[in-house]
Amino acid sequence: MAETDLPRVVIIGGGFGGLYAARALRRAPVRVTIIDRRNHHLFQPLLYQVATAVLSPADIAAPIRQIVRNHPRTEVLLAEVTDVDTPARAVVLADGRRVAYDFLIVATGATHHYFGNPEWESVAPGLKTIEDATEIRRRYLLAFEAAEQEPDPEVKEALLTFVVIGAGPTGVEMAGSMAETARHALARDFRRVDPRSTRVILLEGGPRVLAAYDTKLSARAEAALRSLGVEVRTGSIVTRVEADAVYVGEERIPTRHVVWGAGVTASPLGTKLGVPTDRIGRVVVEPDLSVPGDPHVFVIGDLAAFTTPAGDLLPGVAPVAMQQGREAARNIRRTLSGERRKAFRYNDKGNMATIGRYRAVAEFAGMKISGLLAWLAWLFIHILYLSGFRNRLVVFVQWAWSFFTWQRGARLITGHVGSVLAPPGEPLGTPESSVTPEAREAAEAARTGQAVPADAETKGWMSGDAHQGRQP
Ligand SMILES: Cc1cc2nc3c(=O)[nH]c(=O)nc-3n(C[C@H](O)[C@H](O)[C@H](O)COP(=O)(O)OP(=O)(O)OC[C@H]3O[C@@H](n4cnc5c(N)ncnc54)[C@H](O)[C@@H]3O)c2cc1C
Repeated sequence: MAETDLPRVVIIGGGFGGLYAARALRRAPVRVTIIDRRNHHLFQPLLYQVATAVLSPADIAAPIRQIVRNHPRTEVLLAEVTDVDTPARAVVLADGRRVAYDFLIVATGATHHYFGNPEWESVAPGLKTIEDATEIRRRYLLAFEAAEQEPDPEVKEALLTFVVIGAGPTGVEMAGSMAETARHALARDFRRVDPRSTRVILLEGGPRVLAAYDTKLSARAEAALRSLGVEVRTGSIVTRVEADAVYVGEERIPTRHVVWGAGVTASPLGTKLGVPTDRIGRVVVEPDLSVPGDPHVFVIGDLAAFTTPAGDLLPGVAPVAMQQGREAARNIRRTLSGERRKAFRYNDKGNMATIGRYRAVAEFAGMKISGLLAWLAWLFIHILYLSGFRNRLVVFVQWAWSFFTWQRGARLITGHVGSVLAPPGEPLGTPESSVTPEAREAAEAARTGQAVPADAETKGWMSGDAHQGRQP
């Protein structure tokens, strides 16, 4: 058969699911097209280390094109898919072009969910992309810079209070790494603030951290967080998030840095397939991972709601996406060779989360471990699954360096800073152009202890003691 006559498999998404599907189709008699709106595959489990300046973005991402360069029949399109025309078997790109398929694998993952409060997003970014991670890193590092220059002790305290909402693995890892970075890597670098006095507050609505883990492990994780200085507050439901405070019920926690790790929702592409979705928009798939009524379309990974024969809904984790990617590809191969498709069976290899250096919790093969052993297992697995030899080597060297020196290799504040003393209603590091001359004058006056223009406060720039011109 001529190459051009081979069936075409279109994979939307070059994340864990999509990439593993493409790899499993490498030698199959098909042409593969991977479409992703980003040019890189991202190792999301290490995003929090970019957000806390341990690793650089390029250490945990690799160009999709490079990963599949040895797949002769695989092409990569950098494009956003906006719709799927299932009757015509074509996906629709943002610019209106259409890409025809014989088989389609949809692996577009999930995104943040703010429980009906989308306005919280600008104040409390979630962690999903490289851009999210570098923005969180920017705000985190800027908070120390702003505190160093801030004359008002109350504002200074708010600047050095970091709130993480949601104590799942992402929230736990973020909070632990934020506390550790402040207490060790930044400890001696400032003159007017002591980063060791930083408060990191982890708010969790449920009764315990790492709710999906065994109760003993979640208790150990909580103890490890506390030993790093994290204030863990369970049973704390966040009712409001503002630019300078988080509310738990009526309690106001002044802060200028909030990270959201509480909710996810499926990629909106799932709703374009015209098949049933669950409460958070995941596509309810058949045992063979195809969608009901259309054997040409498969949905995998975080976008799929797959229920095991025992009635358990599989979690949104990387091993599920990888194994489903492989199985969807195998089912396409089986269909092409006239075999019966097989039902997907998940091989659960366990869970793990790390809490600073030396500390982690892990459950696998019926064992529950914590401490150094779990941490070493965590290191090994993460290095093993990183894409690309270069990334494995670089991450290994970075970790070794951070381990022995307590330093962070990627303490970069990127983007234009303008004034670090941003008005309370705006994120830290407001661009120069949006800071009014009056505000700048007020800031300068506050710093030097001189009188402040009468309208400084009404412009929302200063608060508390600063507008009275008090020195720290
Ligand atoms: C911060 C964080 C930490 C995590 N830690 C762990 C962990 O420690 N262990 C673990 O097992 N799991 C972890 N996970 C979960 C794991 O990363 C996901 O389960 C996994 O990435 C899901 O794979 P996927 O292929 O379904 O989606 P993703 O890996 O999210 O890939 C989706 C891809 O689709 C692309 N895409 C989306 N929409 C479109 C569109 N319309 N058009 C074109 N392309 C599109 C995206 O650019 C992306 O490349 C973590 C997740 C996050 C966010």
